[in-house]
Amino acid sequence: MEFKKKETPILVTKSALPDFAAYTEEIRSIWDNHWLTNMGPKHEQLRAELKEYMQVPYVELLTNGHMALELVLEALDLKGEVITTPFTYISTTHSIVRNGLTPVFCDIRPDDYTMDPEKIEALITDKTCAIMPVHVYGNVCDVERIQEIADKHHLKVIYDAAHTFGETYKGKGIGTFGDANCFSFHATKVFNTVEGGAVTTADPAIAQRVSELKNFGYSTGDEIPHTGSNAKMNEFCAAMGLCLLREIETLIEKRKKICARYDERLAKVRGIKLNAVQKDVSSNYAYYPVEIIEEDYGMDRDALVVKLNEYNIFPRKYFYPITSAFEVFKGIYDPKDTPIAYRAGNRVITLPLHAELPLEDVDFICDLIEHFAAH
Ligand SMILES: *Cc1c(COP(=O)(O)O)cnc(C)c1O
Repeated sequence: MEFKKKETPILVTKSALPDFAAYTEEIRSIWDNHWLTNMGPKHEQLRAELKEYMQVPYVELLTNGHMALELVLEALDLKGEVITTPFTYISTTHSIVRNGLTPVFCDIRPDDYTMDPEKIEALITDKTCAIMPVHVYGNVCDVERIQEIADKHHLKVIYDAAHTFGETYKGKGIGTFGDANCFSFHATKVFNTVEGGAVTTADPAIAQRVSELKNFGYSTGDEIPHTGSNAKMNEFCAAMGLCLLREIETLIEKRKKICARYDERLAKVRGIKLNAVQKDVSSNYAYYPVEIIEEDYGMDRDALVVKLNEYNIFPRKYFYPITSAFEVFKGIYDPKDTPIAYRAGNRVITLPLHAELPLEDVDFICDLIEHFAAH
């Protein structure tokens, strides 16, 4: 079969945007009240709507997901070691280090890429203060087992929930687990506010502390009981969130159809390992990861990426490298200490996925993957 290179590149993602007129209408009131930031009406409206949509008791809106992670760790007044996963975006690991804490890397489960709860306890020392797992690609961690371990050893649990906006587990909002949950509303995520993020928690004290930390430490009135940073979501970002929240169900539904097409086409390709389907989870279809098993596929991940690039298809090696392998940690961590995460990092790609991706493009990508397998 002959394949023709795509004229316009198919990128791994494309940011969701609301209808232009809907956004300009949404921001009109900002011109009436001149309230651009500092917890204005858009911020408060988005906060209220997200609280309901995400089914969480408390939400704090922030400038981005990374500040959510950093400020939550600060809010919990932690010291010592945090058990976390290297199979994540570097933000997770940086947030720990930047709080003066020490990451201790736990390996992952091979099928859903989340922290393996059976490997946590061996890593606990008298310095361990918290566990920071990541719900990878929209896959939910074993929240029950992790909580059991945390309770037994009196540890805090902070989820990096950047990939799981809008998901539920056993009917409960994904932002209700552990002590706190950190979401990203970055342009490339399922739901975006251009840049943005949130902390959700059931603990009003944590929510209060984060709300102070994001606003220079101001408490009620003019009092400043602690130091603070600046991480307030502005009105224009909140307005973007309000517009996209109206479309979120449709956006997720479209992603679901695309993932189903990939599943149907790729399940039969030898050497392509698909992401596990989790029961009890209502997925948001955030990413479409596949692992390339070289022995069966006949070509390794890097070679396949080069081939796809030749046809103007740009998947992403995500997560590669795993965070413990970055230069900043050279000589401090050995990425091979978490062999399953290390192997996954060397084999995985996330295929192009966004709500407007045409099914013909999905078919084209699958045709190519099938074709290269045969050769
Ligand atoms: C996107 C992401 C972050 C960082 O969020 P930003 O909003 O970009 O700061 C953190 N962790 C994970 C797993 C992410 O995917």
